[in-house]
Amino acid sequence: MAPKKPDASALGLLGGTFDPIHFGHLRLAEEAREALGLARVALIPAGQPPHRDVPQSAATDRLAMVRLASAGNPGLVVDDGEVFAPSKSYTIRTLERLRALHGAQRPLVLILGADAFNGLPSWHRWQELFDLAHIAVANRPGFAPHGRRWPGTLSPELDAACAGRIDTDPAALHNSPAGRVIPFDMTPLAISASLIRELIHGGHSARYLLPDSVLDYIGLHHLYRRT
Ligand code: ATP
Repeated sequence: MAPKKPDASALGLLGGTFDPIHFGHLRLAEEAREALGLARVALIPAGQPPHRDVPQSAATDRLAMVRLASAGNPGLVVDDGEVFAPSKSYTIRTLERLRALHGAQRPLVLILGADAFNGLPSWHRWQELFDLAHIAVANRPGFAPHGRRWPGTLSPELDAACAGRIDTDPAALHNSPAGRVIPFDMTPLAISASLIRELIHGGHSARYLLPDSVLDYIGLHHLYRRT
């Protein structure tokens, strides 16, 4: 039998705390997959996120909610590599792991909302991210400018890192394994995990902001409730 050819299709990567996963995340993954022509999008829940307070729910609960939310969509896969890693969830390490797994040629596309993109210069070894993956940036209501409105609005260091890398045509993602920056538009959804946690904590309904299966899990496991 002939050896299996390496998969050359572009793979999207959406990391997050997912505390809990909601329709903002799911539409981001789905719209990125379609708009950018990605074979699949891997959802990668953080184990111990380095950037923020300790998540309210355990990594295993957040992973379980991501699995429930993505069930039935063959375009989404779940990567549990950060959840079970013994150390903090640095994206650069995840990209190194995935690059080793998928080979030097496969296009990897890190998908970020505008808020996460603007915070990039505070990430561990952030300038090396561009060597390992492309970066696709979606608009997010309430967060800084996007796309053609970028010039002059990014921090000087992010602006410098993106110089010569920005493409508006997603085809650019498929011609090389890493290094391009692509802004794309998604349906604006002003949903955040913090809003959902606040609603549940306050005894309010969070229905229609996230999948029912995830809401059921939250109820069953008494997550985010006032104790
Ligand atoms: P929190 O409110 O707890 O800070 P969050 O809703 O921002 O959480 P994260 O898990 O921190 O969710 O986000 C993971 C990724 O998804 C980030 O790149 C973020 O920009 C993006 N994202 C989350 N919600 C949206 C949204 N409504 N629209 C666009 N991007 C989003």
